Amino acid sequence: MSKKLVIVGCGSSGLITLKYALDELRDWEIVAYEASSKITGCWGRPPSGFVSTSTKYTTQFACYPLYDAHVRRDLSSASRSFQYPEFFCDGEYGEYLEKFANHFGLKKFICLNTKVSQLRRNSDGKWDLQLSHVSPPDVQSDQGSTEESIVCDAVVICTGLADAPKPLKAEAKVLTRLDFGDSIRNQKVVVVGGGESAVDVARRLAGPSLNNQVWLSVRTGIRVSPRYHPIRGVPSDFLRNRLLLSFDAGLRNVVGQRFVEFRMRFRKVLQRIFPANKKLRSSTQEENQYVRDQWALRLTESAKDSLFNMYHNKSDDFLGDVAEGRIRIIGGNSDPSYRRFYAFGSSDAMNIDPDLIVPAIGYASQLKALTNGEIAFRDFYLGIRHIEYPSLFIVGMTRPIIGNIPSISEMQARYIVFHLAKRLEETAVIKKIHHRNRIELERRFANLDTTNVYPVEMFPYCDQLAREMGCFPSLRKQRSPIQYIRTALSPATTMHYFNDKEMPSNSSPIFSPLLITLLLLLLKPLDWVIRACRSLSKVS
Ligand SMILES: Cc1cc2nc3c(=O)[nH]c(=O)nc-3n(C[C@H](O)[C@H](O)[C@H](O)COP(=O)(O)OP(=O)(O)OC[C@H]3O[C@@H](n4cnc5c(N)ncnc54)[C@H](O)[C@@H]3O)c2cc1C
Repeated sequence: MSKKLVIVGCGSSGLITLKYALDELRDWEIVAYEASSKITGCWGRPPSGFVSTSTKYTTQFACYPLYDAHVRRDLSSASRSFQYPEFFCDGEYGEYLEKFANHFGLKKFICLNTKVSQLRRNSDGKWDLQLSHVSPPDVQSDQGSTEESIVCDAVVICTGLADAPKPLKAEAKVLTRLDFGDSIRNQKVVVVGGGESAVDVARRLAGPSLNNQVWLSVRTGIRVSPRYHPIRGVPSDFLRNRLLLSFDAGLRNVVGQRFVEFRMRFRKVLQRIFPANKKLRSSTQEENQYVRDQWALRLTESAKDSLFNMYHNKSDDFLGDVAEGRIRIIGGNSDPSYRRFYAFGSSDAMNIDPDLIVPAIGYASQLKALTNGEIAFRDFYLGIRHIEYPSLFIVGMTRPIIGNIPSISEMQARYIVFHLAKRLEETAVIKKIHHRNRIELERRFANLDTTNVYPVEMFPYCDQLAREMGCFPSLRKQRSPIQYIRTALSPATTMHYFNDKEMPSNSSPIFSPLLITLLLLLLKPLDWVIRACRSLSKVS
């Protein structure tokens, strides 16, 4: 009898897991259960005016590349898709996922409107799942839901995080769903949090036609990274290359911090040394750019941790609203009822007395409810594989400091099917390694919640998975030294791990200026010394 694999949840993580499972586990029976009636997950219903923070080029799956790394931005156009053509606008990512599922014929393996309500390991070492089938929203039925139990050999949990925001108790009304359209008007609203969701919600609420008063409450600073960089005016994603990312994290934290402050203080100098082409120069941005940069600097300077030890916020358009006074930045709440707040960077409290509080302070995992509290996220090696139960996996709960989630999910999905196909070397000491990893994770990301999510630096993390899977883009793996140099200098992408016979060779443009490349090469010997010292201290 063939073994059975169940994928729970089918947004981008579930879809990519299904694709690799069908490719690699040909003698398995594979099925994905999706609670909603769509396969596009949380990206399938973005608010109007949505622009992604990671680029199409870096976010697409390496096994289904539709977008290149050329910059086509045209600021003279009024249309958003011309102003941000390198990013997913409105429903574009949902459309990409639809195309992906159709291209690989995935839909026939997905049961929509089927929620996995319970997951439990049985005495045979298999998994018992409780399913509840609900009627699709467009079908009238008085049956409610029907229940079913199934058994399977392995499970991959892909239930996502975005639908489970952490709750907050306040005296004012607390908004729990973010699909409010333009129904909130003439209100005093405090959005709590400094992440991308928080600033996006604050922007929507601060639209001039809504007449709301909007405050953004951040306990400490925010690391704001620009979507488009002053160097050459290209997406920041395109300047991040493997050479830059090959440096020791400590060294990157120190040098990177200096560079970020320099960028905020001397934007014009950078723009003059590394000019963008004409189409990318904006005159409208210049008007409030100075105030935006001052706020970015203030927020960055009071950020609570080193540059690459906390999440970066690339939804930087909110700084325009701050500069124009539509969003006011304040500190944390000074009373438990969220009526009074500190002024930003001060111990003086002020009365705001909001009508509405919008919490955007992170996510609560659904794992506890799904497994009756029996399985904890912290027991997943690399945020992927359970250390006790080798047939239980998670995809998509990794959160990159800078980067994107779908292409990390792709690496995780590949890792899991390699594991199930027994293509990975088993280690007998996984618990010991996991324990050491956890200590390091909790030390490094001490200010982040590591109980529900696994914070990572995207490429060092993907490199680790790639090394285990034997697809690290080393000099030996590349077709030629020239190809190796191109890979090191062109925009970093997970496609570099798939740079084998099946994939076209890397022909992306190189945006990183020669001067910066030379400076990095000069710094390289220092990096080697630091790495050697770290290895020696680990051995001793
Ligand atoms: C508006 C918006 C913009 C974003 N922009 C970016 C960006 O620019 N870059 C980036 O990297 N990330 C972005 N994200 C983050 C996004 O969460 C991830 O990139 C990624 O798409 C998550 O995919 P997922 O499949 O893991 O989770 P989801 O997309 O949330 O999918 C999970 C699926 O599981 C289903 N499910 C849940 N529980 C069950 C159950 N018990 N049984 C069956 N099915 C279940 C849900 O219905 C859902 O369809 C954005 C998110 C949102 C909401």
